[in-house]
Amino acid sequence: MKTFYVTTPIYYPNAPPHAGHAYTTIFADVIARYKRLCGFKVFFLTGNDEHGLKIQRAAEKLGKTPKEFTDEMAEVFKSYWRRLDIEYDHFIRTTDSYHERAVQRAFEYIYRKGFIYKAKYAGLYCVECEKYYSPGEYVEIEGKPYCPLHNRPLEYMEEDTYYFRLSDFKDYLLDVLKNRDIVYPRSYALEVSSKLEVEGLRDISVARPIERVSWGIPVPFDNKYVIYVWFDALLNYISAISYGEDDERFKEYWSNVHHVIGKDILWFHTAVWFALLKALDIDPPRKLIVHAFLTQRGAKMSKSVGNIVTIEELLERYKTPDAVRYVLMRIFNMEKDSEFDFNMLDSIYNSELADTYGNLVRRVGVLAIKKLSGKVYRRSLDPKIRDELEGKLASYIDAMESFDVVRATITAIDVARIGNQYLNESKPWEKSDPSKELYTSLEIIRLSTTMLAPIMPRIAKTTASSLGFEVENPSKYDFEGVERYNVTDAPILFAKLSTKPRGGR
Ligand SMILES: [Zn+2]
Repeated sequence: MKTFYVTTPIYYPNAPPHAGHAYTTIFADVIARYKRLCGFKVFFLTGNDEHGLKIQRAAEKLGKTPKEFTDEMAEVFKSYWRRLDIEYDHFIRTTDSYHERAVQRAFEYIYRKGFIYKAKYAGLYCVECEKYYSPGEYVEIEGKPYCPLHNRPLEYMEEDTYYFRLSDFKDYLLDVLKNRDIVYPRSYALEVSSKLEVEGLRDISVARPIERVSWGIPVPFDNKYVIYVWFDALLNYISAISYGEDDERFKEYWSNVHHVIGKDILWFHTAVWFALLKALDIDPPRKLIVHAFLTQRGAKMSKSVGNIVTIEELLERYKTPDAVRYVLMRIFNMEKDSEFDFNMLDSIYNSELADTYGNLVRRVGVLAIKKLSGKVYRRSLDPKIRDELEGKLASYIDAMESFDVVRATITAIDVARIGNQYLNESKPWEKSDPSKELYTSLEIIRLSTTMLAPIMPRIAKTTASSLGFEVENPSKYDFEGVERYNVTDAPILFAKLSTKPRGGR
């Protein structure tokens, strides 16, 4: 069986996940579910990034140890993912012992190869960011350097640290970014390669003195340091598939790994991650799928900006995890930021879910029960309808294979629209034996439901069990494959929302 490995970024658990996290995670879940339906052996990884100063501080503020705090937050994240039907295969925590072993092993490996060295660092540091700022990166207020993110003065610091020789990898990175089809959409690869060409690469620090940051993985050969969080975090993608402990498993999954990330961490996941992998003698990932931001009032949703939409708000508004998943995927965008707008999502919900797909299922269910006692036997589809459905299936598969979830979603709803139109034209309610019309309508619903299943798994299940069919592998789809539909229910899948205009948020 072919494997498919998909990852989300690991999240910083200093606060519960919000709609922005859900946006990324649902997308990865949709891809994973689609691949599972297509018969792949899928490994879907998500998890939390638990080390570092920010977590250490957040825990201190609550009077907890970092371990107590991250244990609690791991449960919080898992509970949200359950509520959104995220079917991950593994939830990684960077405090897991196998992960810590893998990070130390990788650090030592790179050190032995000469790609990590010790040297002095002096510069301007933001304690909140845990990072040094070089000229051009910080802002000046009254002649003094300030952190552009935190608007607080930077501190001058000097220390010995360990560096990763990132600068050695410039040619390699340019070659990979320009000549290999890894970063998707392609425009992001060009963005990184031109930044590389213009700005070049500087070596980067990979360790922190333990007296400042105690919450981390110790440098294996120097207990005065812990490994810097970015290095620790990136390695989750390989530690989760048994890097250094089970070569066969590692190779099996790594050969088809797909990372899903937001564009804010593009640089880290290209320049830094690809170089780090090269230093470890590991191939770059198969695909790096990058999406743009979910914004609110023009800014990326973030707790510090104070413009987040919570997962509770979404579940409360749209009632089911499926509808939340649907509306978020419907506005998913890789290249352009998507402005979050309840009014727009409401209208997507009403017109596509309630009025189109939901309405079709309800109408056909009612008619099948009333006219044929729920038993609808196989009839040939009109060639014209069949052609149309085959075309839709092909474009759906093409969309999913290129991770274009929006186009896949629109195609699924188009199919339901064909169904409603067909009903209006063929008027099965006027016929004494509408077997042909209802069989055709059920076939249309089955196709639409199969297409929607990765996005709305529960709804797909409800429709399938009410109408008496099973969701199939879309890549081996069989038209007229059901000998008899056994319709037992005509569910109302989506209650329509009131269309009163809501105030802007
Ligand atoms: Zn800062």
